[in-house]
Amino acid sequence: MTTTTIQIPSLTPHPSLEYWSVCKVEALFETPFLELVYRAAQVHREHFNPQAIQLSTLMSIKTGGCPEDCGYCPQSARYHTGVQNQQLLCVEEIIEKAKIAKSRGAGRFCMGAAWRGPKPKDVEKLTEIIKAVKELGLETCGTFGLLQDGMAEDLKEAGLDYYNHNIDTAPEHYKEIIGTRDFDDRLNTLGKVRKAGLKVCCGGIVGMNETRKERAGLIASLANLDPQPESVPINQLVKVEGTPLADAQELDWTEFVRTIAVARITMPKSYVRLSAGRQGMSEEMQAMCFMAGANSIFYGDKLLVTANPEEDGDQLLMAKLDLEPETEENRLKQG
Ligand code: SF4
Repeated sequence: MTTTTIQIPSLTPHPSLEYWSVCKVEALFETPFLELVYRAAQVHREHFNPQAIQLSTLMSIKTGGCPEDCGYCPQSARYHTGVQNQQLLCVEEIIEKAKIAKSRGAGRFCMGAAWRGPKPKDVEKLTEIIKAVKELGLETCGTFGLLQDGMAEDLKEAGLDYYNHNIDTAPEHYKEIIGTRDFDDRLNTLGKVRKAGLKVCCGGIVGMNETRKERAGLIASLANLDPQPESVPINQLVKVEGTPLADAQELDWTEFVRTIAVARITMPKSYVRLSAGRQGMSEEMQAMCFMAGANSIFYGDKLLVTANPEEDGDQLLMAKLDLEPETEENRLKQG
């Protein structure tokens, strides 16, 4: 009989990293709103050029028909959401899109596939795709689900820079949202990704009927990963008809901004990405998120299968706010 070694990254960080208890993160959430945003803006300026926004483009390379039951996801085969299933696209089609993304200023090309996890034959195709995207001079990121032993190494060897694997929500809230896997399954794949030397993109979703304490639990879990993720997408739930969370309680905009600010303070060197849900946010709210330390966005008119603000709208907003796409040159330069 063979035994499987479960690689779970430590949630007790290195002594040089600050330990974030849920209580401590909750106390940050309770800071007076403008004071919290001000503190986050200060931390942001210590580590980044606040005028530079990292732009990523996300493309769904395999859509729908996923066996998992994530309560927020229109791509689960269990819900009737009208998403058209699409098998893994061919290299040529993906390269076409990657070239367009590059010409519009994206520095990173993220590819998402709706699987519980890839099969070995999928990884063979993925390595071919990653090599081709990499040759265009773009950074590459993949989100392909749970990984088996050795897969992260194969993806890294093909040229993958980042692996996205969100922890979704607080450990205490996990079972309310997903029944087909548990929180430790996510940590297990994150451990494999780190061991292979890939950079980690890991965040979560807010607005899924969680309490503030559970939002604090999500941020504490992210901040205590050792090392902290290089990229932290903070998503606002996009309520899709047909999913169990279609009628989730509305989250006040200030609570979303607080979550961004708390992520910035607890993960000072990470890119905090304003991710899904931007379509429903006013320009003023997005500006407040940038003030609170968000410094990365998804750029392009689709986020996997839900709408994202039009690129032209993004360009206009960035111009109004005197923000510019991040480049090697402006990354650390203070504005
Ligand atoms: S979030 Fe990912 S794993 Fe969950 S149902 Fe959607 S595609 Fe599948």
